[in-house]
Amino acid sequence: MSLRFHVVEAASKKQPVPVPQPAERPSKYFAKYVFNQEKMFRYLPKDTYRALRRAIEQGEPLSREVADSVAGGMKQWAVEMGATHCTHWFQPLTEGTAEKHDAFIEHDGKGGMLEEFTGKMLVQQEPDASSFPSGGIRSTFEARGYSAWDPASPVFIIGDTLMIPTVFIAYTGEALDYKAPLKKSLAALDKAATAVARLFDPDVKRVTCNLGWEQEYFLVDEDLYAARPDLVLTGRTLMGHSSAKNQQMDDHYFGSIPERVQAFMRDLEIQALELGIPVKTRHNEVAPNQFELAPIYEECNLAVDHNMLLMSLMKRVARKHGFHCLLHEKPFAGVNGSGKHENWSLSTDTGTLLHAPGKTPEDNLRFAVFIVETLMGVYRHNGLLKASIMSATNAHRLGANEAPPAIISSFLGKQLEELLDHIETSSTDTLFSMKGKKGVRLDIPQIPELLIDNTDRNRTSPFAFTGNRFEFRAVGSSANCASALIALNTAVAEALTGFYERTTQRGGDTRAVLETLREDIRACKAIRFSGNGYSEAWKAEAAERGLDCETSTPLVIDRYLDPESIAMFEHMKVMNAHELRARNEIKWETYYKKIQIEARVLGDLCLNHIIPVATRYQSALTDNVFKLRSVFPADRADELCAYNVQLIEQINDHLNTIVREVDAMVEARKAANRIEEEREKAIAYHDTVAPYIESIRYHIDKLELIVEDETWPLPKYRELLFIR
Ligand code: ADP
Ligand code: MG
Repeated sequence: MSLRFHVVEAASKKQPVPVPQPAERPSKYFAKYVFNQEKMFRYLPKDTYRALRRAIEQGEPLSREVADSVAGGMKQWAVEMGATHCTHWFQPLTEGTAEKHDAFIEHDGKGGMLEEFTGKMLVQQEPDASSFPSGGIRSTFEARGYSAWDPASPVFIIGDTLMIPTVFIAYTGEALDYKAPLKKSLAALDKAATAVARLFDPDVKRVTCNLGWEQEYFLVDEDLYAARPDLVLTGRTLMGHSSAKNQQMDDHYFGSIPERVQAFMRDLEIQALELGIPVKTRHNEVAPNQFELAPIYEECNLAVDHNMLLMSLMKRVARKHGFHCLLHEKPFAGVNGSGKHENWSLSTDTGTLLHAPGKTPEDNLRFAVFIVETLMGVYRHNGLLKASIMSATNAHRLGANEAPPAIISSFLGKQLEELLDHIETSSTDTLFSMKGKKGVRLDIPQIPELLIDNTDRNRTSPFAFTGNRFEFRAVGSSANCASALIALNTAVAEALTGFYERTTQRGGDTRAVLETLREDIRACKAIRFSGNGYSEAWKAEAAERGLDCETSTPLVIDRYLDPESIAMFEHMKVMNAHELRARNEIKWETYYKKIQIEARVLGDLCLNHIIPVATRYQSALTDNVFKLRSVFPADRADELCAYNVQLIEQINDHLNTIVREVDAMVEARKAANRIEEEREKAIAYHDTVAPYIESIRYHIDKLELIVEDETWPLPKYRELLFIR
């Protein structure tokens, strides 16, 4: 019997791992391992505390003395918590996060050791940058990048290590990570949005961007996972016939959560809360073994860090419970993939900006302005926004009739559509009645009664308005949230800047606001789409509207280097052309390397697993035919052997095709590998190598149906997808 049987059997007998129950309620252990405001207050001298708060809230620079003092307080807390090491924690352009640990020790100058953690260690570290991708920003002789503390994201403890969130930049100042440009995009958005918000309320001091992410994921039993080299090496199954039952009954979505999974979720939630991640929602998703977790939304920079932290925590806690957590966007063909919805909104220090109804007509006009300028940004840079969520892995999910299509559009809901139409078509004079000294007072009878209903939903839209926020649904489950947000924030900042300039040129009063608003409602109309985003008709219509319809990942990535993208990033001071080019090199390189690995793994699996097993089964069938022929007269034997002979031929056909295509795939890979330029190489992998991965799979999946179950080596979909 194949090893697979033993593994499946053992997995089905596993019991839930007990979860240590904290003695107190969540409000008591929330942020236990975080140096949050309350601990800052307790462990820092008064002046230091105040200077640090100012740095966090107003972005004021910290002096070295203050940094030393902060480090002193942090160390005291960390040592009390049992920490012995510290690390700068950063988000390189590869997946996930990176860290480099240093012990809290220094020579004391007398031959002994001293527990030491200085402001210098807190503020700056120099991990060797040469092994992180930099797309040629950093030539090898200048292998210096450094990480710098981000005071806006609190330090935390994992195990024995104090983790310090940092940006990661090259010696020349260019960003080698996601956090640096994210923070710049947030600053640009704050500046532009504050200026616009002040047209309505001069007291507004700043605008904050909020993010609430929803993280989807799959769990598989870790032993079954280990028996699937494709899952281990590529994060997805490269073969596997659909299970007879998968998601067609919709029973998983509403079903109860299996006990082993419940224990995992409980454990994960406790640990996430202890790390200050405000996780709130958990539920089953559509596909079997698919789940979702969402926190309460937070300030964008912090929320991004929390998502990165959560993804690594999920993997760790899953292992403890005998699972492997799959964050790949499409681990299984034929069932839904995983996304990460990014719920994005803006608020001022005095209230929210994307919420209606407001108290006054002016509030509602302001609401309309922020909605429309968000749409303007999304419209002008729809191709770039798609590029920001595109990857080799997410490409499997987009447009697969379960996830948003590979065309960016926005769904607003009936009431908001009507409001924008009303503003667009009514003349300024019908919207105003003259009153008071300032000349105009808004009189828009429809607007004060505005009640934007968030039950009005369209699941097929990649960028939907949902009551008080936009939900960017095209983001992939494994992505760093920041990639999409850098593009979105910058695009909206640019739109708001343009709005502000044109409105102030018109005098900056309510009438001017309305005129500019009307202009922009007309300009970005093409991005509004309420119909079915999965339909074929939409693809044709979107192309007619001039929206970006490209689906090839390497070509979609080109959008970063469009003149209007470069101009936007430069003008908003988020990234320069050099950085953008360097980052694109990394994107193309990452893309083709993923396909390259998949192609290699598939080739190996064919040659070492599938072909031998299928051939053996074919021999057994041939043996049977041979023996039947030796026992029965020819006529009777023909009859008796007919079915097996047919199978033998089918197996033969599939095997021949597999061998032929694996050879051809190897040749295509060799040809692609000879290409020097990253972009061209990525295109070659997309056009000439990737198609073989799908077509070879087709034949393997057919063989899986023919070959006897007992000898099939790899766990099947029905075994991987149903945790008991
Ligand atoms: P859904 O019905 O889409 O699952 P939820 O109510 O579960 O929506 O919320 C999803 C996420 O949206 C949560 O992280 C939540 O905190 C976040 N969210 C709610 N309101 C806002 C807002 N104004 N800005 C940003 N995120 C928000
Ligand atoms: Mg949602």
